[in-house]
Amino acid sequence: MRTSVVIIGSGFAGLGMAIQLAEQGRDDFVVLEKADSLGGTWRDNTYPGCACDVQSHLYSYSFAPNPNWTRMFAGQDEIRGYLEDLADRYRLRDRIRYGVTVTGAEFDAAEGGWTVHTASGETIETRFVVWGTGALHEPSIPEIEGFERFSGRVFHSANWDHDHDLAGRRVAVIGTGASAIQFLPPVAERAAELTLFQRTPPWILPKLDRSISSFERWAFRTFPPLQRLYRASIYTRLEGRVFGFRHPRVMTGLQALAKAHIRRGITDPELRAAVTPDYTLGCKRVLISNDYYPALARANVNVVSDGIERVTERGVVTADGVEHEVDTIIFGTGFKVADSFAQLAITGRDGVKLTDAWRGGSEAFLGTTVAGFPNLFLLVGPNTGLSHSSMVYMIESQVAYVLDCLRLLDSAGARVLDTRPESQAGYNAELHEQLATGVWQRGGCRSWYLDENGVNRTLWPDFTFRFRRRTRHADPADHEILV
Ligand code: NAP
Repeated sequence: MRTSVVIIGSGFAGLGMAIQLAEQGRDDFVVLEKADSLGGTWRDNTYPGCACDVQSHLYSYSFAPNPNWTRMFAGQDEIRGYLEDLADRYRLRDRIRYGVTVTGAEFDAAEGGWTVHTASGETIETRFVVWGTGALHEPSIPEIEGFERFSGRVFHSANWDHDHDLAGRRVAVIGTGASAIQFLPPVAERAAELTLFQRTPPWILPKLDRSISSFERWAFRTFPPLQRLYRASIYTRLEGRVFGFRHPRVMTGLQALAKAHIRRGITDPELRAAVTPDYTLGCKRVLISNDYYPALARANVNVVSDGIERVTERGVVTADGVEHEVDTIIFGTGFKVADSFAQLAITGRDGVKLTDAWRGGSEAFLGTTVAGFPNLFLLVGPNTGLSHSSMVYMIESQVAYVLDCLRLLDSAGARVLDTRPESQAGYNAELHEQLATGVWQRGGCRSWYLDENGVNRTLWPDFTFRFRRRTRHADPADHEILV
């Protein structure tokens, strides 16, 4: 097969890219999707309670507002429905090929394009590759001794086993991240007993959620500027958090609010102490929930903070020697972030592999292009993640940047664009200087934002409008036009 653009993944990133290419009349593209339906993370994560912790009016494309969101923080099925609707609205259905797993891609200097390989042995020739798979799709299951001996059911939050009825079960939940705090309350309601294995308590703020009335939805449908204003007000409020991330002392006030939230949800002083973090708020992702603390306070829930030592046939043994008997283990242990791009065999100019180029740590220019890997674009690439606002906003900025790179090539009558190593190095030096003083580095915690060397390869540390400004135009000075 031969095409102009191969887009990998059909989540928010891949679909956003596909829509914008189609809108510009660049119709020669294909979206490759490993699963049998679209939606990315919003297709995979179906655990009970799954919802977005960013307000839906902002966690959606600016060019495709949805006036019909039923809640401030929509649930997984509604978000997935939004993406499905867009595939219809923008006539993308026949542009997506399902069940196609990309295993690698290599740049062909003579052709000025890429050869993309799939698991079925197919090769696709293309000028551009847009990698839209994101960083959070490979479930991480910790290696725990004796795990294979466990006789009960085991699954990860991103592969929820809906056939396994939890009613009357003794359930172990491992992890206290964004996913676990969402599924724990409904599981606690259903299970006979729930034991939560907590390694690090998260900071949790009240969730200002509510349903959106039919009158409000009518108003948004009827007066679109009203919805734009509403979106802008959410955006502005969330951007304000950047001050706290950049100046951790500002977080003290929010920590007081979070501690009051613990006191409201939990009366037992020992449990209150166990769930109170000892690092600065913001160091890990700040979570929001109104039902997590009350769930922990239930009589059938037990919070265990001793480390997990091993798993036996009957349950989980902690460092204090206690065996916690369970029949189901649910991992809420997050994703293999480092593996998300690294496992892909991407070979750029002069036969250089991306894994080798990134041996010292992953980095890109504006999180999107990588020197030595021409015509390759990474959406949600290194340091484009956010802990304060909507990733959809970042994706839109990156998509605009990709389109401007294509425009730059068109206007030069050229085919191949590579990023200058010095531009990439300068950009990253500035980025890491900013990150070094932020709460993620100084807050006294260890998070998945940091790589094995303690370097933050994940987050954009600044206001998102600054990223938007920088990605508006591809500056020819930052790129080499090859042929
Ligand atoms: P996560 O934030 O990485 O949390 C993983 C949890 O598992 C942490 O509590 C971690 O403890 C624990 N853990 C890992 N290995 C362990 C071990 N060996 N023993 C005991 N505990 C262990 O994963 P996640 O909750 O799936 O969330 C990942 C990301 O997905 C989030 O940060 C967010 O970006 C995204 N997400 C977003 C939403 C949303 O609403 N927008 C919802 C869910 C997820 P430590 O803290 O000690 O490492």
